[in-house]
Amino acid sequence: MEITDIQGCVTLHNNVEMPYFGLGVFKSHEGEEVINAVKYALEIGYRHIDTASMYNNEKGVGIAIKQSNIKREDVFITSKVWNSDQGYKNTIKAFNNSLKKLALEYLDLYLIHWPVIGLYKETWKALEYLYKKGKIKAIGVSNFLINHLEELLKTAEIVPMVNQVEFHPYLIQQNLLDFCAKNNIQFEAWAPLMRGNINKVDLINTLAKKYNKNPFQVVLRWNLQKGVVTIPKSSKPVRIHSNAQIFDFEISPEDVFKIDRLDKNERIIPYPA
Ligand code: NDP
Repeated sequence: MEITDIQGCVTLHNNVEMPYFGLGVFKSHEGEEVINAVKYALEIGYRHIDTASMYNNEKGVGIAIKQSNIKREDVFITSKVWNSDQGYKNTIKAFNNSLKKLALEYLDLYLIHWPVIGLYKETWKALEYLYKKGKIKAIGVSNFLINHLEELLKTAEIVPMVNQVEFHPYLIQQNLLDFCAKNNIQFEAWAPLMRGNINKVDLINTLAKKYNKNPFQVVLRWNLQKGVVTIPKSSKPVRIHSNAQIFDFEISPEDVFKIDRLDKNERIIPYPA
């Protein structure tokens, strides 16, 4: 990944350009809170918004996009099909609901939120159908482990373009990263800031002083230098702005390696086996 600026992109395996930096909106409340967060982010240069039907804020995200007056093709919008909506027909229905709430004609990326056992392969078929119909520019998965991806690839016509997973210095999942790289599946981080707790990690604080940045900026820059797309969430303008100030410094390879060594396979959200 060549890191240029806030609007820099990775090219997915179907040649769709995905901005490697975006705004997460999990827990941004529907209405004024999410509208203001997304509008502000777009105003200062963010071009990628990550929502999900489960977040109950797609309507607000859609209003913010419209009010921002940015051309549709210049923003990258992701949503996800929730667990209770999985299966072929339900997924198509859920997708149409999301599109309606967002008031959009198409999505840039649609993900299977979690691998619901017994259903996720049917769900994938629905995503392939919607992709072929041109309703989604790229399709992918979220929270898939290697065994889920292997199982999916047995019958999938289209290899997922993205796998969005929990990723931060305490949870790197190197085997999964390698598997995705080998199969051209772009890795994307959720909870990159360890839900706001990254400033409790000594090494990250030390590096923040060294690079004259704050701990949140250090870890987000580390995501990008590892080739991982990242979508930190904040609903506060000052933080939305500060989290994006990561394009004017570079972490040395030695320091990237030091951060990598913090990995202890520790999840914030226990994996629902
Ligand atoms: P993050 O690691 O992005 O942390 C978000 C928390 O950090 C919020 O409480 C926020 O508070 C706080 N925060 C943000 N910036 C700063 C800052 N500069 N200084 C101090 N605190 C800060 O966690 P998320 O779980 O939200 O993950 C990011 C996104 O990933 C989500 O919003 C969602 O879009 C996606 N996601 C996907 C999942 C999946 O299963 N596919 C699961 C979970 C998340 P405040 O808002 O008050 O600033």
